[in-house]
Amino acid sequence: MRILVTGGAGYIGSHTVRQLIAGGHEVVVYDSLELGHRQAVPADRLVVGDLRDIDHVDQLLVAHRIEAVVHFAAYAAVGESVAHPAKYYTNNLLYPLQLLDRCRRNGVQKFVFSSTAATYGVPEVVPITETTRQLPVNPYGATKLAFERALADYADAYPFGFCALRYFNAAGAAADGSIGEDHTPETHLIPIVIQAATGKRPHVEIFGTDYPTPDGTCVRDYVHVDDLAAAHILALDKLAPGMKLAYNVGIGRGYSVREVIRTAEDVTGLKVPVKEGPRRAGDPPSLVASADKLRAELGWAPQYDTLKAILETAWRWHKAHPNGYDG
Ligand code: UDP
Repeated sequence: MRILVTGGAGYIGSHTVRQLIAGGHEVVVYDSLELGHRQAVPADRLVVGDLRDIDHVDQLLVAHRIEAVVHFAAYAAVGESVAHPAKYYTNNLLYPLQLLDRCRRNGVQKFVFSSTAATYGVPEVVPITETTRQLPVNPYGATKLAFERALADYADAYPFGFCALRYFNAAGAAADGSIGEDHTPETHLIPIVIQAATGKRPHVEIFGTDYPTPDGTCVRDYVHVDDLAAAHILALDKLAPGMKLAYNVGIGRGYSVREVIRTAEDVTGLKVPVKEGPRRAGDPPSLVASADKLRAELGWAPQYDTLKAILETAWRWHKAHPNGYDG
């Protein structure tokens, strides 16, 4: 298939691009490199550009006779979305709506979308299934849900099918340590914990210790980035016009912030300095997936089913690239 991957030089995008290329697909990566990394994708696949430049995207759809779009390009920091909703509504909703319409006009009939567990808000029941009510509690989740709805309306009205993959917490790195997680600034728990273990930051601050969870800290479902990437390949294989697919992607097990810290100490053999702090705005107490539907319908079978196994790959990447891609 000829596939345009927006945000393909980012963390999850680059792992997916690698699998798409290995699967024989013709891949064009479109990335502004604001958060993505040139080194994360083969140079001959990369087109540097911003989603805001929709005519540029349109030219690529036409020139490469694109059949499917895998859309990663977005901002993904919950706390930032609360402080700067305009940034999220513009980048995560306005530009993607333009992209979607150019897909329609250019006959692109398959679309895989990076959605999120944040669309569920504070779920009434855990584990979360795909039919759990979607009621986001932060602008990040709200923009992702709004775009899911637009995709569904397009699929009802036009020859178009989509798959929304609702990611839980992506973590880890390629098994060979060649590509991995590198955000600036880093906001995600696992890389922050590793940075605190290695002395690159003084401590990890725990955002809230008074949540209604077993140890008072937030619980999340951490899924390995290569397992997450594999879900995109399965979705593309399945997609056809008229399909409206949505799947949770998580391993179905929750770990608290304290458990992440303890496991990181175990994996690295290093002490992680900790500071207890207040809650971060917009954080639900517990997000754990039921990914039964993804397993049953697409045959998804994650290779990494424990936090420890995931953290080992994150640690390998960090040791080989202590300063990320630019080191
Ligand atoms: N977290 C934390 N300290 C940090 C970063 C994150 O306690 O420095 C917590 C955060 O409140 C959340 C969990 O770790 O409960 C995972 O946060 P992350 O930002 O990695 O992913 P999110 O769940 O927001 O997508």
